[in-house]
Amino acid sequence: MNTLIKLHDKYFKPYIKEEKILAAIEKMAQEIAEDYKDETPLFVGVLNGAFMFVSDFLKAYQHPCEVSFVRLSSYQGLTSTGIVETLLDVPEEMEGKSVIILEDVVDTGRTLKQLVHLFSNTNVKEFKIGTLFYKSDVYNGEYAIDYVGLEIPDDFIVGYGLDYNELGRNLREVYQLNQTDMINLVLFGKPGAGKGTQAGFLKEKYNLKHISTGDVFRYNIKNGTELGKLAKSYIDKGDLVPDEVTIDMLKDEVEKNPEAAGFIFDGFPRTAAQAEALDNFLESKDMKVNATIALEAEDDILVQRLLERGKSSGRSDDQDESKIRNRFDEYNEKTAPLKAYYEKQGKFHSVNGIGGIDEITGRLSKVIDSL
Ligand code: AMP
Repeated sequence: MNTLIKLHDKYFKPYIKEEKILAAIEKMAQEIAEDYKDETPLFVGVLNGAFMFVSDFLKAYQHPCEVSFVRLSSYQGLTSTGIVETLLDVPEEMEGKSVIILEDVVDTGRTLKQLVHLFSNTNVKEFKIGTLFYKSDVYNGEYAIDYVGLEIPDDFIVGYGLDYNELGRNLREVYQLNQTDMINLVLFGKPGAGKGTQAGFLKEKYNLKHISTGDVFRYNIKNGTELGKLAKSYIDKGDLVPDEVTIDMLKDEVEKNPEAAGFIFDGFPRTAAQAEALDNFLESKDMKVNATIALEAEDDILVQRLLERGKSSGRSDDQDESKIRNRFDEYNEKTAPLKAYYEKQGKFHSVNGIGGIDEITGRLSKVIDSL
């Protein structure tokens, strides 16, 4: 974990080592030298990303050559915008020259199209394309790529000239977006099943941010906020708070923690609409629910636990058996169907919620460690 770097709101992990990059460049320089060492080719670097590559390439290419740059831009954030702007045009004097484009990365091929277009109006002798990184899986194949440093899968990369919203260009090696290390868990279970207690242990153990929608509502009630006033009447009766309110609140809580290595959602989602909203919201942030783990226990045991908790917690919804039973009814009617929703995604796990606290943490950890 300590090798992760953070650029803006995202974490990146080491991906391609400097030595490997330099070895690939060395090999490429040799290949190009085989073809061009008896001429004086014009190397045209594509800015901004290729500056570091061009620099190391030229150190490896010790034969007569000229160097120039064009500047194009197509990325914004993590995705290619599809609009390629020409910010710095081709060199003027190119007649009869052998031009070799040096690109940092070729992915869809949109930038290449623009480059070919730029050079098609010139009277160069020859026009070749070399790229340090090549995403063959997504390349549209419109033009031949003549020289390739390293073929890579279609992952978002930064470093060695490449950026994420302008950061990361000066990194000596290449990093990849760290998506897999994020764990987002949904703790599922009836009131009193031990979700809050277990989340308290799991968040320490796995370095996760715990979001309990019940806790957020209670905090707002205590502080007399508008949200608290709105939620109170529902909570007091043991009814669910309306989806729109709860979903917006949950999103806010996630947004407040851009640095989290993952989340434990405790008490959310509780309805089909919430589950769908959560999936859509996480997807928009390149995140996902990794697992839903249900803590199972019988109603009678839960009622006893909650009444016991009500004596010290002061929670009005824990002190009255009819309110507790109403919360179970809400659960059975609105929340229990989510089991099928997550089963369909292959993400539903069930754990026996009866036993010692440590024992139950152990059962949950076993599921998490197997993800
Ligand atoms: P909890 O602490 O999770 O038992 O939640 C206490 C109460 O807060 C519930 O009985 C609901 O009234 C309300 N609440 C908590 N989470 C949600 C949710 N996801 N959707 C609707 N209401 C919720």
